Amino acid sequence: MKKYDIILFGAGPAAINFSRAAQGSHKKILAIEGDKFGGTCPNYGCEPKIFLEGTVRIVLASQLLQNRGIGQASTIDWSTLMKTKKAAWKNMPENEEMGFKNLGIETLHGYAKFVNNHTLEVNGEQYQADKIVIATGQKPRKLNFPGSEYTHNSNDVLDLDNLPEKTVFIGAGIVSMEIATLLAAAGSQVSIVEFLSRPMMAFSEKHVMNTVEEMKITSTLIKV
Ligand SMILES: Cc1cc2nc3c(=O)[nH]c(=O)nc-3n(C[C@H](O)[C@H](O)[C@H](O)COP(=O)(O)OP(=O)(O)OC[C@H]3O[C@@H](n4cnc5c(N)ncnc54)[C@H](O)[C@@H]3O)c2cc1C
Repeated sequence: MKKYDIILFGAGPAAINFSRAAQGSHKKILAIEGDKFGGTCPNYGCEPKIFLEGTVRIVLASQLLQNRGIGQASTIDWSTLMKTKKAAWKNMPENEEMGFKNLGIETLHGYAKFVNNHTLEVNGEQYQADKIVIATGQKPRKLNFPGSEYTHNSNDVLDLDNLPEKTVFIGAGIVSMEIATLLAAAGSQVSIVEFLSRPMMAFSEKHVMNTVEEMKITSTLIKV
């Protein structure tokens, strides 16, 4: 059985930040990842979203300035944008894994499960450590209503080869509002369904309502 001082159970941003903090501690550390090294943020979340948002900002700005110095407003070619994103992201997990290795962390691919407080099993082998850091992140919750098997999550949407003509978002949280803006700017007809009295309840009402007004203006412009 292989023994470590510390095992990082999951290799997303929490694990990489822990690894940076542990640099120079002379601890023997192993990072285990069952999917893509780097976790949600670089592979499925913040970073692909910010990449797509870069194009959206330019397109929306050109639409707002049409007839005020810009002759022809630009539009998004979603399929090409997505091909560009996929090509740029091809090496992301390897680069992220290299980030761990460069910090002196050993890496292991496989889905881990606890055997006891100090032991994990991965690919039929056992790995022991004084400390196991649970850094497994979160998963989208499956919704419990008839037809929910046909719904998609943000991972699917940020990887869509073709833009849907119409999209309905269930819930008006921050991720939903961000991705809705991307798809609306690209030309999908977007609706957002929320059971609370307003979107993004955790955020200041004034700022949220400004955002909602902006989203209405930009999606109207796109339809013109
Ligand atoms: C669409 C979207 C946009 C986002 N935008 C932003 C943003 O702009 N700014 C921001 O700050 N945050 C953003 N986030 C949130 C951010 O991605 C998360 O807060 C961050 O990734 C959490 O890091 P983590 O390390 O805790 O978990 P994760 O990144 O989820 O990493 C956990 C890792 O553990 C692995 N794992 C789980 N179980 C096991 C197992 N049994 N064995 C082995 N490995 C396992 C998973 O495969 C995963 O790779 C966004 C998230 C989404 C979905």
